[in-house]
Amino acid sequence: ANQARVDSIQDNINRVTRSIKYPCKPDGKPVYTSEFFGENVFHLQQIAKALPKPAYASFLKQMRGRQALDKGTADAIAHAVRIWAMDRGATHFTHWFQPQTGTTAEKHDAFLSLKSSFSANGEEHEAGTTPEVESIQVTAIDAFSGTQLLQAEPDASSFPSGGMRTTFEARGYTVWDTTSPMFIQEGPHGTSVLYIPSVFISYNGDALDEKTVLLRSTAQIAKSATELLNLIDPVPVGAQPRTSHVFTTLGTEQEYFLVDRSLYALRPDLKHTGRTLVGNLPPKHQQMDDHYFGRIPSKVLATMSEAELELFRLGVPVKTRHNEVAPQQFELAPIFEEASLAVDHNLLTMDVLSKVAHKNKLKVLYHEKPFKGVNGSGKHCNWSMSTDRGENLLDPTVKPETNYRFLLCLVAILHAVQQHGGLLRTSIASSSNEHRLGACEAPPMIVSVFLGEHLTEVLNSIEESRPIKNFSVPEIQTIRLGGTTLDVQVASLPTISRDLTDRNRTSPFAFTGNKFEFRAVGSKQSPAFPVTILNAAVASALQDVTEALRTQMGDKPYPSDADKVAVIKQFIASTKAVRFEGDGYSDAWIEEAEKRGLPNIKTSPEAFEQLLNPVHSDMLTKLGIFTQSELQSRHLILQERYSKDLLVEATTLSTLLASQILPAAFEYRGSLAQTVQVLKTIEGEEASPELAALQALTPVVKDLQAAIAQLDDTVHKMHLVGDDPVEEAKFACANVLPAMNNARAVADKLEVLTADKYYPIPHYSELLWF
Ligand code: ADP
Ligand code: MG
Repeated sequence: ANQARVDSIQDNINRVTRSIKYPCKPDGKPVYTSEFFGENVFHLQQIAKALPKPAYASFLKQMRGRQALDKGTADAIAHAVRIWAMDRGATHFTHWFQPQTGTTAEKHDAFLSLKSSFSANGEEHEAGTTPEVESIQVTAIDAFSGTQLLQAEPDASSFPSGGMRTTFEARGYTVWDTTSPMFIQEGPHGTSVLYIPSVFISYNGDALDEKTVLLRSTAQIAKSATELLNLIDPVPVGAQPRTSHVFTTLGTEQEYFLVDRSLYALRPDLKHTGRTLVGNLPPKHQQMDDHYFGRIPSKVLATMSEAELELFRLGVPVKTRHNEVAPQQFELAPIFEEASLAVDHNLLTMDVLSKVAHKNKLKVLYHEKPFKGVNGSGKHCNWSMSTDRGENLLDPTVKPETNYRFLLCLVAILHAVQQHGGLLRTSIASSSNEHRLGACEAPPMIVSVFLGEHLTEVLNSIEESRPIKNFSVPEIQTIRLGGTTLDVQVASLPTISRDLTDRNRTSPFAFTGNKFEFRAVGSKQSPAFPVTILNAAVASALQDVTEALRTQMGDKPYPSDADKVAVIKQFIASTKAVRFEGDGYSDAWIEEAEKRGLPNIKTSPEAFEQLLNPVHSDMLTKLGIFTQSELQSRHLILQERYSKDLLVEATTLSTLLASQILPAAFEYRGSLAQTVQVLKTIEGEEASPELAALQALTPVVKDLQAAIAQLDDTVHKMHLVGDDPVEEAKFACANVLPAMNNARAVADKLEVLTADKYYPIPHYSELLWF
């Protein structure tokens, strides 16, 4: 192998796994996780302590969106949080927000402030109060005002806005999102930084970020679901309705790859695009399925637990860690939380994991498809709705067939997918996820719903007005381990309970017991947009269901059970097309889906167009989740990002091929040619084996040279398309992508033909096993 690769592998082998100090008590006994969980978070209780009772009460009202925050309260909170943070080493604060770049943004400001005073007539005065100045004194103080807490004005012109903010009116504001708690994160040299979760809006109040629309969508779910629940849940006249709030819950299963950092540094494609643009699959990869749930390699486990330690302190309830299917692929999942907090926590998790991996000389790859031919990564978004009393609305309970609240919510979700499946597809579209979706190892681009055998039977029995097959009989909800009859049962194994659904990994949107799992979401993307769209579609569907119930019940104050069944039946019938229990990876499904009229949106640029489709845009604007101009701007941002991604990939590939892969082949070819020449002169050998190797190599080298030229030409043509992001994205998808695939195919042939010693970048076999 070439020297750089050898050095880097040596370095990797000789590296000692980093060890950190897990918290322990002065007597050396361990501190339990629950004891330091959330210690770096400024909790509501601390705000309560800092404020007089009435001020705290008005703060709570503000949090629920019912009141504005006054300056006095903001000042008091700012003071308290500054002292708390500075006592923990904080020197700076930052508004932490989520522009439409897929990541988070922050700009740090020191607490340091300067105060000038002057003395006149031997007395101290505030600046600007008396005319006769004797001497001015400038003193350093630490300060953080309520205004600084509430809002900041980053230079917004460098964030994507899709034309919503022309540069001359480039004002954008970040505003504290009081629903997400502030926290501190370690900075360098024992210092730390106070993070203030924020939204990012324009001068006119347009959303420039992911959070604002997410918060609007949760407010809509709350409104629509509460209305439905209170309609079907009668209370005595004059009494308060039983449900006052509904929120969505989210648990994100984050998949990722870990590669050695020194090898990663030798791959410009990984560094600049997050995925390998060339490379062949080694003989053994994932076909043995021996990696899934396998023993976690020690340096990976060290990285995971160091990251978890920091996340626990940040109040992120990370729960599960394991190996995934592909080599070097892993997963991390938290306990679910209220959706917008869960989104913040997912972004924080991705950040912390990257940072810790870096310290451990590893690199996290969040790209959906870093390696061709190897399984990609997703971010399964487990989603449900919960009432303020903590009831999960998607819990089917023992007898779902008569649990009308559950069934009405379930059909609303089916209806949401039926109406807005195309929009859900948009919410997960990106140049990177495109490589994963429909690659026969990930959910397809057709959005359908998997319910499982039991719920399917429940819905079928209602639709056909017949009794349900006895699924709800308690016995069959348990599995006896170790045999089907009592005599062969292994007595030492306990009986376990069975979920109401089996698994279907091929569905993009699957019911899994008491929640839906939106599996098509990409590992790299923020869950904010997919969840916003899901919330929006379900909120709208809940309104349709409520409306249908009102029509059905006529003049009655509340719907009867018969009314509910009638409405449930109506929606079961109208949403049949989106229910699919079979193999989502099969070609048969693609045909079947087409017959059913389900959209199969193959490319991202097409998917982005859905944002402007009135079927979806009317729903989003009617609910007030997006304005028309916010949709237009997001559409442009997405199209632009898509073509930029492809442009970066194409130029990275071209440079890699022209400056590394091709020269390596030239060098090897040169050495073969020399040997052929020498053998001819000294041995008189006309047809040496080296000549055969040379002859096999030459046409592939020529092909690669041509492929690079063609790729460059395509990139050049893309620049000529002009300034229209839509046309550019279309062109990139139709031309740049195929030109890259073509060049890659040739380069991959060359990888095999070039002597290993000359090959400049790490092979898959080196990246995927360390
Ligand atoms: P499964 O193995 O079926 O995927 P897990 O229990 O491992 O289920 O959960 C996967 C993720 O789903 C976890 O993050 C979990 O917290 C989350 N989850 C469980 N229940 C809910 C719920 N009601 N709402 C949202 N997420 C949930
Ligand atoms: Mg799962």
